Amino acid sequence: MTQFDVLVIGAGPAGYVAAIRAAQLGFNTACIDEFIGKDGKPALGGTCLNVGCMPSKALLESTRQFHNLLHTFKDHGISASAPSIDVPTMIARKDKIVKQLTGGIATLFKANKVKSFAGRGKLLANKQVEVSFHDGAKETLSATHIILATGSVPIAIPGVPFDGKHIVDNVGALDFTAVPRRMGVIGAGVIGLEMGSVWKRLGSEVTVLEALPEFLSVVDTDIARIAAREFKKQGLDIKLGSKVTGAQVMGDEVQLSYVDAAGGEHQISVDKLLVAVGRRAYTQGLLSEDCGVKLNARGQIEVDEHCHTNVDGVWAIGDCVRGPMLAHKGSEEGIAVAELIAGKAGHVNLDTVPWVIYTEPEIAWVGKNEKECKDAGIPIKTGSFPFAAIGRAMAMNEAYGQVKIIAHADTDRVLGVHMVGPMVSELIAECVVAMEFHASSEDLARICHAHPTLSEAVHEAALAVDKRAIHRAN
Ligand code: FAD
Ligand code: NAD
Repeated sequence: MTQFDVLVIGAGPAGYVAAIRAAQLGFNTACIDEFIGKDGKPALGGTCLNVGCMPSKALLESTRQFHNLLHTFKDHGISASAPSIDVPTMIARKDKIVKQLTGGIATLFKANKVKSFAGRGKLLANKQVEVSFHDGAKETLSATHIILATGSVPIAIPGVPFDGKHIVDNVGALDFTAVPRRMGVIGAGVIGLEMGSVWKRLGSEVTVLEALPEFLSVVDTDIARIAAREFKKQGLDIKLGSKVTGAQVMGDEVQLSYVDAAGGEHQISVDKLLVAVGRRAYTQGLLSEDCGVKLNARGQIEVDEHCHTNVDGVWAIGDCVRGPMLAHKGSEEGIAVAELIAGKAGHVNLDTVPWVIYTEPEIAWVGKNEKECKDAGIPIKTGSFPFAAIGRAMAMNEAYGQVKIIAHADTDRVLGVHMVGPMVSELIAECVVAMEFHASSEDLARICHAHPTLSEAVHEAALAVDKRAIHRAN
């Protein structure tokens, strides 16, 4: 039986990063992954690189450019006759990026001497792992430390069966071969808004059905309100408080039934239906009955604050454990676990994991929102600053949205930063650093920010916490 120091199951952003860091630290490391790419060959990188973060961002960028060509370039005096988009070319560009990135992980594995197994891993007792290869062959491996990083899968809803063609999850919505005339989306969450935006920008009539009565309930209400207004302007039809009761494929369309907030029953027909109502930890067939690893009530692998399971030497990271289902959170856990195994300090602060929604405008936040602070009885003061008063945003023709900073009323420590507007996916990094270093809003206010940049909105919002913003009346 081949023995490794560290054996990782799953090569998504949690697992592959853990494997590389473990190898860097001198461990004899292997990684098992079962994912098969669009070309029928094994592909590393998990959901994120193959059918998640990266392909969705590639399509968001293509469609953002097209949307600007159609609608905003004219403000700069730029015109083009009869612009059009070739969907297969756009999809092929996305596929090329995916291939480049997933191939890059294979190269990194080779460079770091991580042994890669293409197949399915199952944890047995005594830290042994059975690998089932795609050709049916099996091999048993063993390791001193095992890291489970099997990720997550989409949640299905009763009465709305995926068929991969008309009723799809994220995988299907990334691969439409033509622009659907009418697209339905169940769930106004991160995937629903990002993928709904992609196809809306290309001309689909997009209807989003959201069960909850409020929009983006996880986002600060001021920021969610601004985002909702912008999405409405773009023509995204978001119906809150709508409970889907069933969907049926009839010929080449889907008939979708739902009940609105007032109890009224409705039926709409769409050409494609994306179900994006959340994801759940994926552990199917992973744990043998006698391996000893426990799951929690939500079906996630139970871990302590250091990502250690209840079995000595068995760790779990990424989407298959508690905490936000985000690639960077999983990667940081991967690094922390590898370093803990090496006897170093390893820790992930779940309170400062940034979130970004890559719509137009982008939405980004870190830390607590105003409601969470109030519910927890924390005294706060806030400062906001609009991009409408930021010269760089005007020059970019993207002068919408705002930055909002929440600080403790007594200590001034920054508790949360919430943004909607241009490139806030990049601006949030400064605020994560500030929070990690326990900065006060005064600290942010005293830092010199380059002019003219979008980051001046962060500076001015920090000044606004004490009502001393310069470029607007306080
Ligand atoms: P995964 O990436 O899911 O990887 C797990 C891997 O393990 C997979 O390759 C799987 O095939 C393999 N596996 C599972 N079981 C076994 C087994 N028994 N044996 C062998 N292999 C196994 N997050 C962000 O931070 N930013 C974004 O912009 C973003 N965009 C997203 C867009 C979409 C459409 C989706 C669906 C998700 C997005 N996410 C984003 C979330 C992000 O993809 C996940 O948080 C991240 O991929 C989780 O990483 P992971 O390594 O835990 O799991
Ligand atoms: P989500 O949790 O972001 O949103 C799901 C939405 O569906 C929620 O608003 C929920 O209230 C709603 N919902 C649940 N059941 C419903 C029902 N029966 N009918 C109508 N609405 C219903 O989940 P998601 O959009 O599927 O994305 C899954 C996860 O993937 C995200 O939470 C995030 O962790 C990750 N992700 C991240 C990014 C990013 O970082 N930019 C992008 C995509 C996905």
